[in-house]
Amino acid sequence: MSVSTAAAEKTLCHDVPGALPVLGRDVTVPLVTGGETTYAALDYAASAPALQRVWDDVAAYAPYYGSVHRGAGHLSQLSTGLFENARATVAEFLDCRADDQVVFTRSTTDSLNLLARALPDGCRVFVFETEHHAALLPWRDAQVTCLDAPCTPQQAVETLERALADRDPHGPALVCVTGASNVTGELWPVRELAAAAHAHGARIVLDAAQLAPHLPVSVRDLDVDWVAFSGHKLYAPFGSGVLAGRADWLSAAEPYLAGGGASRAVARRPDGGVEVEWHEGAARHEAGSPNVIGAHAVASACKALTEAGWDNLGARERHLLAKVREGLAEVPEVKILSLFGADAPRVGVLSFVVEGRSSSDLAVALSAEYGIGVRDGLFCAHPLVRTLLGGDRRARRECGAPGSAPDGTPLHAVRVSFGAGT
Ligand code: PLP
Repeated sequence: MSVSTAAAEKTLCHDVPGALPVLGRDVTVPLVTGGETTYAALDYAASAPALQRVWDDVAAYAPYYGSVHRGAGHLSQLSTGLFENARATVAEFLDCRADDQVVFTRSTTDSLNLLARALPDGCRVFVFETEHHAALLPWRDAQVTCLDAPCTPQQAVETLERALADRDPHGPALVCVTGASNVTGELWPVRELAAAAHAHGARIVLDAAQLAPHLPVSVRDLDVDWVAFSGHKLYAPFGSGVLAGRADWLSAAEPYLAGGGASRAVARRPDGGVEVEWHEGAARHEAGSPNVIGAHAVASACKALTEAGWDNLGARERHLLAKVREGLAEVPEVKILSLFGADAPRVGVLSFVVEGRSSSDLAVALSAEYGIGVRDGLFCAHPLVRTLLGGDRRARRECGAPGSAPDGTPLHAVRVSFGAGT
């Protein structure tokens, strides 16, 4: 469905009064009022404020609150329906294959840790050093090949192909890659990386934490094996996430958590031990009472984004990004962080440094003096930000990345990020 930008804003805009220039320019954003401070929240990449529509849907569910899959009672039945409908909505949102599984988790971090627990024996994991720590670190029990930061999307594909060609072709392998960087906002060549992975007999999981809130994600079209994302970055409240994709590895693995819900039958063994038969399907990895409200909220956000129309959302975001870039371009000391070059396509996430200035001080000043909430630091992607800031000489030479502060202190960066409703 396609609607006008104004209608999209009406649907998506958070119920907050006022307007404020972004970074001193004439872009208006909704204000969040806390105590006596009003500010523009430009930290959507960390957590995007939940949409009013999502809060309304959650509130509408409140009278029907009941635990799922366990009761014959009316409320339990309603809740079970809601939970399973949420699963179907997410599958549709991600354009999953018919036999894919949608597992509700707590977050992207949780989803990738779940998949890490489901790797077949001897699996080798390939991951670029540029990943968010949530994608870089869960593979502790596997053999990991960490790949150099590429300077172009093409180089990313070539680097992966070389690494895959060098591996033992008989063992299982998984590639984990982000769709959009949480630091630069740049889009990664997911379809090409998936083709490379499959050509070498490997599987691929897409970290869509930053991609899904900004662009449609199609499992079929990208031909990825799994996708992970977080509700709180997709305009739903905290506490819910998704892992969607191939069922085979998930069904063959021990449950992520052991407990009720994951178990089909449990009995005491004659020797005094306990015997268990685990569920197949998503329930296998959803032990305990699931976060039904969280799943419902994620599904509501998926519907809101689809109904608002990606074209409308994208146009607004590109407008804001262009405004910020225009403003930053007037300050010669500003360097925008980029792996793939200034013109590389990106979502509404942008990080920069100001030569000779502390990013932490800048972030504090933007908040205190201009009422603009941004983030500063290394954004849970330490190797990438260090590379971009010039800590890695190779990347600095090859990618022309900005250097560190004149006194040699490692710089943090400032990140500005937008989303639906800004
Ligand atoms: N992947 C990327 C690209 C992210 O930006 C983030 C969070 O910032 C994560 C994974 C982890 O998300 P969460 O903290 O919701 O688990």
